[in-house]
Amino acid sequence: MISAEHARADELQRLAEATTGLLKPAEGRSLRNAAARADSSGLGPLLEIGSYLGRSTLFLAAGIVEAGASTVLYSLDHHHGSEEMQAGWPDHDPTLVDATSGKMDSLPRWRRRIEDCGADDVVIGVLGRSEIIAANWTTPLSFVFIDGGHGAEVEWADYRGWSEKIAPGGLLAIHDVFPDPSDGGRPPYECYLDALDSGRFVEATGYAADSLRVLLTTGAGASNAGAESPKSMLATPPATTSAAINTAASE
Ligand code: MG
Repeated sequence: MISAEHARADELQRLAEATTGLLKPAEGRSLRNAAARADSSGLGPLLEIGSYLGRSTLFLAAGIVEAGASTVLYSLDHHHGSEEMQAGWPDHDPTLVDATSGKMDSLPRWRRRIEDCGADDVVIGVLGRSEIIAANWTTPLSFVFIDGGHGAEVEWADYRGWSEKIAPGGLLAIHDVFPDPSDGGRPPYECYLDALDSGRFVEATGYAADSLRVLLTTGAGASNAGAESPKSMLATPPATTSAAINTAASE
């Protein structure tokens, strides 16, 4: 017999798969599994950078619920869209532009989606700039998922700012990791390599899916993260993110 937790987690996964976003279903299922492990670890809350419209948020919520929801997910975004979400870029959605400010604003739709899916007991929105929040964040985290802006400056700031907040034994997930440059931009892959090279992380087996990679902290203190300069300050959005899974009509 399936438990109530499993049934609710499966429903959240179904809702995640019906939510607009760039994450592939296999990546979402992997995030669910990693989130379940993180919740069970007792190491602290989870945090994702890049909420957008709630697709990854709901996959992560499914994992937390499946594991008994002993903690919560902080879902962080300034909600004005990453560089590659702005007008003129392939992933731009003009329906998300606020008529008054002229800026992108994905917060109303993210909030409505999380509430409509009944996930607001395990998901807490954090609104603001990632680097400022990271600089003021003191709670150790069981899991960090980096999927914000993919320009070098933003990606490296997210990686540097948040990878240090993960408790020993916790997990670091990075989206849009493309070893082949023809598949997409370099910064997520470079941060992934830095994490491994630093000795602070090893690959967590069983979670890699498409461009998602999940690393496990080793507890080693040494870090390369502050020393290396980004190789490019230009945003180079991954080619494969141009096909957003848009299910706005059913949300
Ligand atoms: Mg992504």
